[in-house]
Amino acid sequence: MLMPERMCCVCFTSLNPRLDLNTGAMSYIHPHRSEPWDHQPDPVPIDERLIPICDLCAQPGGAVTFHTRRTVVIDEGPGGDLRDMGDYWSACTRCAVHIRKRSLHLLLNRAVLVWPEPLNRPGRENLRRNLKAFHFKFFAADPQELSTDKGND
Ligand SMILES: [Zn+2]
Ligand SMILES: [Zn+2]
Repeated sequence: MLMPERMCCVCFTSLNPRLDLNTGAMSYIHPHRSEPWDHQPDPVPIDERLIPICDLCAQPGGAVTFHTRRTVVIDEGPGGDLRDMGDYWSACTRCAVHIRKRSLHLLLNRAVLVWPEPLNRPGRENLRRNLKAFHFKFFAADPQELSTDKGND
């Protein structure tokens, strides 16, 4: 991790650190929304108000936790940002099935289908392209399922 994990105290979802490669400035972003969204990320230390969101499809519910052997970092290249996606991942039960089977295609289809942002056709194609690169990196980092002690949720 480049920076400690934070959640947003406006929407109570987890935030990811981002490094601006031009300025070297660190900030936090909502990983499940394109910025700018309807509010700015307001990072605070994570507490019990956190609403679990699936890191793969952005739906509520982080029932299953995966740990990747390597930290997933998205490098947007020249003029872009470096995003630290961390190495602990929350997945909903639907995505967890596809992750266990290492089915990139099914995971991608599901995420594009249920993604919470209203998108037009080019937006959806763009989302699909971005998610594909993102899911690919996630699988390449070798996610392992952690046993949860959260009971039946
Ligand atoms: Zn927020
Ligand atoms: Zn999911």
